[in-house]
Amino acid sequence: MDKIYIAGNWKMNMTFQAADDFFSQLADYLNSNRSKNVEALIFPPFTYLELATDTAEETSLSIGAQNVSEHDNGAYTGEISGDMLSSMNVEFCLVGHSERRQYFKEDNALLNKKIKKLRNFFIKPILCVGESLAEREAGKAHEVVQKQLENCLEGIEIDDDLCIAYEPVWAIGTGRTASPQQAQEIHNMIRNWIAEKYDKQTAENLPILYGGSVKPSNLAELMAQPDINGGLIGGASLDIDSYIEMLNIALKI
Ligand code: PEP
Repeated sequence: MDKIYIAGNWKMNMTFQAADDFFSQLADYLNSNRSKNVEALIFPPFTYLELATDTAEETSLSIGAQNVSEHDNGAYTGEISGDMLSSMNVEFCLVGHSERRQYFKEDNALLNKKIKKLRNFFIKPILCVGESLAEREAGKAHEVVQKQLENCLEGIEIDDDLCIAYEPVWAIGTGRTASPQQAQEIHNMIRNWIAEKYDKQTAENLPILYGGSVKPSNLAELMAQPDINGGLIGGASLDIDSYIEMLNIALKI
């Protein structure tokens, strides 16, 4: 797979004005730097999705949501359904980001339901997996990630619309990045797991992104790893200059 995803997860950041400025600068950049090999993808808060999808209509930008409800519709105050996302032309959705697992107690069984909902609406799930520091230090990183994959993907047919993000919890927002070798080892394990469970071709086509303190200065060496197909980037995606710098780095890989 040749494509590199530069996926910005804005989390609960940005004002409407800041988002508007970001998207107009990004639109200018994307319209003068077209590339089939780099996928610019942004996960804004729900409130800026319309701004984002308007930009996506005029550029090569792809848009994802940060979360989806496991329910179809009804009395679930504050929730957003797959139908709503689909009606706004949202293409991707994060599922199981470690902050959702940790602060909102989302477990693998719930995430499995969310992935199934997204599939009903042809929205591409980006399933986030990753171990905590204690689990890594106990030598359980492979085991934890495999269990997350197994439980979250139970009963789900894997095709080209699925994407996985390996995000070691200890590297998210901490400034501490997994070394390219540490990341590659887990990415390779994930690809082999998919090949065993499904088939080799599916595994080869599966985009596996790395997330955890990715920034312009460490992007190139991470992306040079054979099983890393892009970055899921929090902090460094909030600043348009830094985001564009990462797109430029990806263009040269
Ligand atoms: C993330 O939001 O998924 C993330 C990895 O954040 P950061 O890049 O800030 O560590």
